[in-house]
Amino acid sequence: MKDKTPVTIEVRNLVKTFGSFKALDGVDLKVDGGELVALLGPSGSGKTTLLRIVAGLDWPDSGEVFISGEDALAQGARERHVGFVFQHYALFRHMTVFENVAFGLRVQPRAVRKDEAGIRARVKELLDLVQLDWLSDRYPSQLSGGQRQRIALARALAIEPRILLLDEPFGALDAKVRKELRRWLRSLHHEINVTSIFVTHDQEEALEVANRVVVMDKGRIEQIGSPDDVYETPATAFVHGFIGESIELPVHVDGGVIRLGDRPLQLAADGLAPGASKLFVRRHDMLVGPPGTGAFEGAVQHVRNFGPVQRAEVALSGGETIEIDAPRDRELRAGDTIGLNPRRYRIFAG
Ligand code: ADP
Ligand code: MG
Repeated sequence: MKDKTPVTIEVRNLVKTFGSFKALDGVDLKVDGGELVALLGPSGSGKTTLLRIVAGLDWPDSGEVFISGEDALAQGARERHVGFVFQHYALFRHMTVFENVAFGLRVQPRAVRKDEAGIRARVKELLDLVQLDWLSDRYPSQLSGGQRQRIALARALAIEPRILLLDEPFGALDAKVRKELRRWLRSLHHEINVTSIFVTHDQEEALEVANRVVVMDKGRIEQIGSPDDVYETPATAFVHGFIGESIELPVHVDGGVIRLGDRPLQLAADGLAPGASKLFVRRHDMLVGPPGTGAFEGAVQHVRNFGPVQRAEVALSGGETIEIDAPRDRELRAGDTIGLNPRRYRIFAG
């Protein structure tokens, strides 16, 4: 009997360099059994490198990887039983959907390989799971992009992997299909309960798919938390700027006063370290009032209606231009002078 308890993954102090470039710069991460974690970061932040090391497709310069407590770096890719789905469909073009999914089962070592009836039953089960059993006889070229990625996932699951690694699996699909597949993946994961890491550079996708989000930048982890944590209480300037729509202003903190240029702002500076800092406000947290009533003063340059909100470009006195999202109950017009007051804000040193 195979043990079906979902495996845990732990990486400790992973460092990986390419030439003199540090793609991973001391990464520590624990993934619980059966969890679906999102790795979120801009292009080049080291997400794929980390995934490849967990999969056994690449090795770190230093650091450790444990799968359910066992030293994974002493094992090859095959021994780790990892299913991998990439952004670009790696389906075999000359094989039907059925044969694509069956492939991994047919090439298994003779000792564990199922007989033909067993393979057929397993493929049917997987195609049912991804809800595409009706496409069994088609070729990849006859499928939509979204269908191909669902088949790629079925194929990755065929060998009953202990770990599922998804590297921007929806990256090449259009926005509407991506959204459908997010929900689909979340419920599928619930059903299969395989420990999974989902890589994306799309913050909305990460927040929607995963229970825990790992935010990366420049080969380092900036924050690990629930979607709420990383959105509501970003740990660093990078996270605030990367997740959610943020206004970022260079300010200076000095003697309990926050200044934008030479203008002191009517904002509390308690507990802030003196020096150059960055002030962050979500676009929708900038409340509009009459001139002279807020921490900021500005002239509306341009307004665009954006669903339930109006997005206004505002030139602040002091030179910076920002974009705010205001409700449409008070109509803004180019040329208006307004006061702006942040409902919430964060200040990070540096
Ligand atoms: P991400 O998946 O977050 O976009 P990657 O892990 O692919 O980032 O890459 C991180 C950095 O490492 C990038 O700057 C990339 O150019 C570099 N890199 C990745 N793989 C190699 C390689 N095989 N040779 C040289 N540089 C690489
Ligand atoms: Mg990548």
